[in-house]
Amino acid sequence: MIDVHCHLEQKDYEKDRDEVIEKCKEKLKAVITCCCHPDDFDLTMELVEKYKNFVFATVSIHPEYIKEIDHLKVDEFFKKIEENKEKIVGIGETGLDFIIEEAEWRKKQKELFKKFIQLARDLKKPLVIHARKAFLEAIEILEKFGEKNVLMHFFTAKELLPRVMKNGWSISVNTTLLKSKKIKKIVRDMPLGKILLETDSPWLGEGKRNDPLSVEIIAREIAKIKKLDFNEINKITDENVKKFFNLPI
Ligand SMILES: [Zn+2]
Repeated sequence: MIDVHCHLEQKDYEKDRDEVIEKCKEKLKAVITCCCHPDDFDLTMELVEKYKNFVFATVSIHPEYIKEIDHLKVDEFFKKIEENKEKIVGIGETGLDFIIEEAEWRKKQKELFKKFIQLARDLKKPLVIHARKAFLEAIEILEKFGEKNVLMHFFTAKELLPRVMKNGWSISVNTTLLKSKKIKKIVRDMPLGKILLETDSPWLGEGKRNDPLSVEIIAREIAKIKKLDFNEINKITDENVKKFFNLPI
């Protein structure tokens, strides 16, 4: 099993990060940690080096941070990403988060999103998309760019699933699957060849700190929905990850 979306750089793991990763190594084939803020970049690269071929990274700026990042330093961050492109397997999470309501900041999110799409194209990396209250807007932008290598993280817009499928994109599913009828239906309708496992750790742990090992309960739930064996789900989703991110494992 592979967790394609967690945040190992978060403070929540400050005290026992190595222990958590070592435990993951016993059960998982790999984890992909998602660096979403320029301040987290160095720690993320350290983890990639320290746990070579086990911890992989995607890098971007989360749209939720649009107000707090230093916009003058964004170009610098882009340069850093380019310089470290060999250590990065994808660009993300990037996208739109309309929990931020002001039109000017939404406009800025769109501008930054487009810049990251362009960066992914230049570096020939796949994109990991975060969209909240803005799935349609994000999809429209990606379609305009004609993007093919797209992973919709935490996808909940059932009504837009046909469009995601038509574009040949993938989705990653986390523990919200266990409770959400809508996400169960998304998993039911999405071909298994386009489903990846994620945890969004340390979040989504129902009040407790989550970690990448909870991919197992997600895989078990998918097995139930798809009426397939748990091992079969692991085999197929692992293949999906290796293909999507071009992982050298
Ligand atoms: Zn995330």
